[in-house]
Amino acid sequence: MSVIPVGRFAPTPSGRLHPGNILCAMLAYLSVRSKGGRFLLRIEDVDVPRCPRSLARQCIDDLAWLGFTWDEEPLYQSDRTGVYQAALDRLTAAGHTYPCFCTRAQLMSLAAPNLGDTQVVYGRTCASLTPEETAERAKTRAPAIRLRVPDDEIAFTDGLFGPQRENLARDCGDFILRRSDGLFGYQLAVVVDDALCGVTEVVRGRDILSATPRQLWLQRLLGCPHPEYIHIPLLMDEQGRRLAKRDRDLDLTALAKRFSPPELIGVLAFSSGLTDEPRPMTLEQLIPLFDWSKVKRDDLRLRFAV
Ligand code: GLU
Repeated sequence: MSVIPVGRFAPTPSGRLHPGNILCAMLAYLSVRSKGGRFLLRIEDVDVPRCPRSLARQCIDDLAWLGFTWDEEPLYQSDRTGVYQAALDRLTAAGHTYPCFCTRAQLMSLAAPNLGDTQVVYGRTCASLTPEETAERAKTRAPAIRLRVPDDEIAFTDGLFGPQRENLARDCGDFILRRSDGLFGYQLAVVVDDALCGVTEVVRGRDILSATPRQLWLQRLLGCPHPEYIHIPLLMDEQGRRLAKRDRDLDLTALAKRFSPPELIGVLAFSSGLTDEPRPMTLEQLIPLFDWSKVKRDDLRLRFAV
């Protein structure tokens, strides 16, 4: 039986699209369209206060302006909390979760080995509270819900970056599925939506590569198939600095004044290695030229000229 590939682009609309987002959308689109597959658009606005609908609509308009087409109505994660709650209930019923009452300050002071600036391995303070202790704490504080992770290596092969492995207990820790303010975490929402939409390939930035083992573990617990993962190199500006949402001169408001959609797509195709000069190209023209072997593995530089 041949399965029609399904790809997706899943932006978080907390600002206007920047070239890194557009590059990711472009590679996700070309990868699946070049195999005759379906392409979906999902608005990752679970963090509603940071992601107003106006920005989501702007993002959809921008993608349409650039020439993207998608096969179903865009999905808004903010509409789907019932679906995420149902998945969380299943995990809880199977004993995989526990409520965590730790405050941010406690987490920082108890931090086990550091995972960079913002992420720390949770020391499992609340992992073995008795039902009485849980009930007592719940009187004064709404808990976050954490997933118990195994002391075991989760391995996968990334389409561009090759074999990857992570011991979730050691390198990541029990992570949050639902925050104490009731908002669902990115990991659970992504896994549930990728599965329910039948996504077979996930193309996204290398900055999210380290989230993949957590998602593979959730897929296993929820009985969801594992999509293929292809993480793409980060796109730097012309000087080799990381692009950030604060770079206003490189968001679409500024770029749309300087470039037409084919000019912009042509620059990104050239910057990623798909073409050998930044000539104007439509997405449709790039489909027959697309091949992952042409995409560079090192950090990419935005290049407006040869
Ligand atoms: N929403 C994430 C972002 O905008 C992407 C998540 C994903 O593709 O899995 O960075």
